Amino acid sequence: MTTRQDCQALDAADPLAPLRQQMLLPPGVIYLDGNSLGAMPAATPARVQQVVTQEWGQDLIKSWNTAGWIDLPTRIGDKIARLIGAGPGEVVVADSTSLNIYKVLTAAVRMIQAESPGRTTIVTERSNFPTDLYISQSVAEQHGMRLVLVDSAEELAAQLNDDLAVLLITDVNYRTGAWHDMAALTRAAHEAGALTIWDLCHSAGAVPVDLTGADADFAIGCGYKYLNGGPGAPAFVWVHPRHADRFWQPLSGWLGHAAPFEFSPDYRPAPGIRRYICGTPAIISMAALECGVDTLLAAEPMGGMAALRRKSLALTELFARLAEERCGHLGVTVVSPREDARRGSQVCLALKPPLERASYAVVQALIERGVIGDYRAGDPDRLDQVPHILRFGFTPLYVGFTDAWDAVEHLYQVLTREEWREARFNQKAAVT
Ligand SMILES: *Cc1c(COP(=O)(O)O)cnc(C)c1O
Repeated sequence: MTTRQDCQALDAADPLAPLRQQMLLPPGVIYLDGNSLGAMPAATPARVQQVVTQEWGQDLIKSWNTAGWIDLPTRIGDKIARLIGAGPGEVVVADSTSLNIYKVLTAAVRMIQAESPGRTTIVTERSNFPTDLYISQSVAEQHGMRLVLVDSAEELAAQLNDDLAVLLITDVNYRTGAWHDMAALTRAAHEAGALTIWDLCHSAGAVPVDLTGADADFAIGCGYKYLNGGPGAPAFVWVHPRHADRFWQPLSGWLGHAAPFEFSPDYRPAPGIRRYICGTPAIISMAALECGVDTLLAAEPMGGMAALRRKSLALTELFARLAEERCGHLGVTVVSPREDARRGSQVCLALKPPLERASYAVVQALIERGVIGDYRAGDPDRLDQVPHILRFGFTPLYVGFTDAWDAVEHLYQVLTREEWREARFNQKAAVT
């Protein structure tokens, strides 16, 4: 049995532990929700202050040039590229993930319709994040395609056929934390003659990603989760250089124009990924995002994403094992894959019936104790397959082994003392 002292020894020996000092976390909080909203980097308040008071307040519009505002989408894009196996000039930061899904999916559909018009299906997983499904529904309708939702690896394999146009897959599942084999799935999709889009919302900054090595076609991802960019931070988008001048931008805004300051009446897309900038970037949010991305790049001298991954796996395995050992007899089960190669950087727990109805309240009771995770509702018609889950993200930049141990201890206390029964924990807030 692992003791709290064992965990303290692991923290003391952890070469990545000093990275935590880059973040400002309130005392007494064990933050296990960095997969939903990353913690705030210590550098962010001063940087945002500088942008507001100096660059905007004093230097005014000059800052587009003098402070490099106009280059922020590509400058931060180049930094994110280092985390996802992409090259310089291949990534831009723009808009939201939802909008970027729209852009790349529309582009991929257009490319396929021009080159192999017989293909009519867009395939994704039913368990994908809803915005990915909703945007796909809309793109499918607009382009006369069929959206097919699959429920298993077998169903997915069966869709890799002559009809497949685009495969849209979220690399790490937002609910369960299950991690796909990007290289294998991309290869299979290409062999079927289709294009791939990878959603990296729960991958960028969480697991090593190698878009180039996997030979993917398109990718998008989120700035406010593991990249610590702040609430509503802008998102990013990548396209493989082989498509650099072929892909289309359906939201053909002026800043994606080849020469925006010519103010020409005709749209002419910028070369390469810059065309995926639509309108004027949100500079204050961009500045905060850059601070967040820098917290991950700070790990590069210590082994970068590979080292963060090793720690993340050790943390998630420890948490899952302790949750089972300590709380298994209370009805707690681990829903995330236990196999290292199949698990992202989060652990999801479920509660066995009849306790499963208390899942939301258990998470609220944990939050009051300072253990911040979140709750994701299951499918009421298929609770056996899609249970209510208690979701805990482990961001190796700022979560330690003792945190994992303490979190399980708090869970044990919430369950054995039945704290979740209190009325205030059972009132659902707008955001769960
Ligand atoms: C978080 C997340 C999103 C978020 O999209 P927004 O446009 O930022 O709201 C989309 N897709 C996945 C898979 C996510 O995890």
